[in-house]
Amino acid sequence: RCYLDVIRQKKHLNAFLEVYDDEALKAAAALDLQRNGLSELPPLHGVVVGLKDVISYKGHTLSAASRILENFTAVYNATAVDKLLAAGAIVIGRQNCDEFAMGSSNENSAFGPVKNSIDEERVPGGSSGGSAVSVQAGMCMVSLGSDTGGSVRQPADFCGVVGLKPTYGRISRYGLIAYASSFDQIGIFANSVEDAAIVLEVISGADDFDSTVSQREVPAFAEALPGPEKKYRIAYFKEALEHPGLDAAIRTSIESFIKKLTESGHVVEAVDFELLEHVVPTYYVLTTAEASSNLSRFDGVRYGYRANIANGDLTELYKASRSEGFGKEVQRRIMLGTFVLSAGYFDAYFTKAQQVRQLLCDRTKQLFSNYDAIVSPTVPSTAFKIGEKSSDPVEMFLADIYTVFANLAGIPAISIPLFKHPDGMPFGLQVMTSHFDEVSLLRLSQQLT
Ligand code: GLN
Repeated sequence: RCYLDVIRQKKHLNAFLEVYDDEALKAAAALDLQRNGLSELPPLHGVVVGLKDVISYKGHTLSAASRILENFTAVYNATAVDKLLAAGAIVIGRQNCDEFAMGSSNENSAFGPVKNSIDEERVPGGSSGGSAVSVQAGMCMVSLGSDTGGSVRQPADFCGVVGLKPTYGRISRYGLIAYASSFDQIGIFANSVEDAAIVLEVISGADDFDSTVSQREVPAFAEALPGPEKKYRIAYFKEALEHPGLDAAIRTSIESFIKKLTESGHVVEAVDFELLEHVVPTYYVLTTAEASSNLSRFDGVRYGYRANIANGDLTELYKASRSEGFGKEVQRRIMLGTFVLSAGYFDAYFTKAQQVRQLLCDRTKQLFSNYDAIVSPTVPSTAFKIGEKSSDPVEMFLADIYTVFANLAGIPAISIPLFKHPDGMPFGLQVMTSHFDEVSLLRLSQQLT
């Protein structure tokens, strides 16, 4: 009831596209009854969770914040949702986001932008903006979002909450609407590292419905915290802190934080990372290519929105449905992706980008043979004003510079809210560790918090 009240009071933030009032209250009452018979409660008993509108919840609308899926009803649960429910969680509603998770500001939703509750003139970040604001403003305890190139960490940074993207393959993607399948990963927004760890443990693990998910046993993440006080070997990219796009106050805060880390006995070293300038182009070539293929299924025939055309021609029906159903940013990416995959340009763009991705993976392996973690700013600026950057897509793409690396390499990464900017907005530190080493990621993050 308390969370439903807050959602009602803060409706103008536009964080939720739908709230499951009655259903959530019923679920809570049922959990109360169940509780009497149990000697031990399941790990998420009564935990109030919100779901980004790209995660399938059976019998509920699933729209990817797009007109093309308006009024589409999910026919099965995402594996992560099944696991949440089995652990006693209550799903309170469906959260606003950028259309098909494409964006960095939540301004690309077909259902209007989301406002940052710290300063309502500013964006919450994206694409999982509604999920970040829900935790920020106390509308739920945790949210599930998706992170293809930063969509959990970047809005967490802008909103001052914890945002965790696990290793690619840690959590099943079954029931997550695909944007770029070799990058997509479900992520968690929470108020603390510990909360994120508890949820991670519940939703991770092998799944027959997703062949890319790892068969590895899931560590007891919750129990692993707090870890023993340990001195870590930490690297940071020289080029990341020297980057001209990085806000001066953020640079200063991160630099003095690094100094403090050294003083407290950690080894912190600057390493060369010449590939940094290539990460954003590589990311946008590969993700748009994958998106153009993934989104071809939305043709106006099988799902959702169908245009009303007079002449009954099938190609015209596809064209009209996709032109009317998809927003501008999604159309831009489908066209970019189709272009980089086209016969004449395939080798110049797609193959080249795959080669760069391989180089990044090799370099990552090499770095983690020498260091436990890499730290960086999460985003080069704090949350900007609504409308401020929406006319320049390239500028918006470039701001993904620090987050896309983890998705290209498939490694786990987290944004922890450690700082406050002179402009009054929060910002975070990004920590990354080696594949499947979420235990070190969580331990180090908690130690730094
Ligand atoms: N901002 C990035 C993009 O627009 C990241 C999106 C995401 O992680 N889903 O592609």
